Amino acid sequence: MTTHREPLASVVETVGETPLVRVQASPPDVPVYAKLESFNPGASIKDRVGVHIIEGLLESGDLDPGGTVIEPTAGNTGIGMAMAATQYDVDAVFTVPEKFSVEKQVLMRALGADIVNTPTEEGMGGAIERAHELAADEPNAVVPQQFSTDLNVQAHAETTAPEVYEALDGEVGAIVAGCGTAGTLMGMARYALDTNPATHIVAVEPEGSVFRRAAGDDAEASEYNIEGIGTHDHTTNELFDPELVDEIQSVSDRDAQKELKRLAAEEGQLVATSSGAASVVALDVARRAADGDLSLPHDTVVTVFPDSSERYLSKGIYDSYEEWIHGAD
Ligand code: PMP
Repeated sequence: MTTHREPLASVVETVGETPLVRVQASPPDVPVYAKLESFNPGASIKDRVGVHIIEGLLESGDLDPGGTVIEPTAGNTGIGMAMAATQYDVDAVFTVPEKFSVEKQVLMRALGADIVNTPTEEGMGGAIERAHELAADEPNAVVPQQFSTDLNVQAHAETTAPEVYEALDGEVGAIVAGCGTAGTLMGMARYALDTNPATHIVAVEPEGSVFRRAAGDDAEASEYNIEGIGTHDHTTNELFDPELVDEIQSVSDRDAQKELKRLAAEEGQLVATSSGAASVVALDVARRAADGDLSLPHDTVVTVFPDSSERYLSKGIYDSYEEWIHGAD
């Protein structure tokens, strides 16, 4: 294991080996442990994916040194990818729907990337389309496609999940994670189900997101404020495999914000909306297990807190619910 205490050649080497911390509101007999991904150098879980994708594409020859990656991203993947690109003579261009946080766009530019904004109404679908249009006009350009590449899933199957299993001596009863690309949940599920097929796998999405359509449920798409998870068109999130998932839970903006405020005030955790949503569901799974309503192979629930609230202060993440919702318009 890398301790990060020895001198390192680049900040990219500090990606991963994040802490696993108990959610203190857990029922005493069924602890929830959260992997704190803001401890990565780009301050989110997506550093793992950005680095793994750039290294994977260079290794396979799909990307040449001197080439360009053009990727649709809500921001965190862009930060991880742009950080890796600085180390590999690769240029980075990101297509970003306008609604995503200014902080992320400032950081991507600081890391040397070019940003092309796309209309909020067109969602991630619009950003994906624009990335392909730009790549068609650019020699040596590749669209890594975090929404469909197995490199995204691998990053979590090879790093996030093994770190958790090592920390808990393999005693993991349930994995609960928000789904944006679904790379985190699918990668962790792949590792978990290989280790113990009875592991309970739970997907988290915002109310108004339609991952549940992939499981055959009728669901109306509507707007939500939780950032980094959810989809309005589940067919663009090709990684999500409902066969690996036991439950898909939806969380409202109000409940996610209430929980992230509680985590800060009571537990000292400065986490953002997708973490709030994950915590709501992970605690619900743990309480059901503690009450005997759900049987888990081990009495331990693992979730992921993907990033920190600091990235969303300009969006009023700690303001009243009404101010936060209004501010995002
Ligand atoms: N939370 C945040 C803040 C994110 O940026 C992302 C990535 N879009 C996720 C959760 C979801 O991760 P994944 O893409 O692996 O499903």
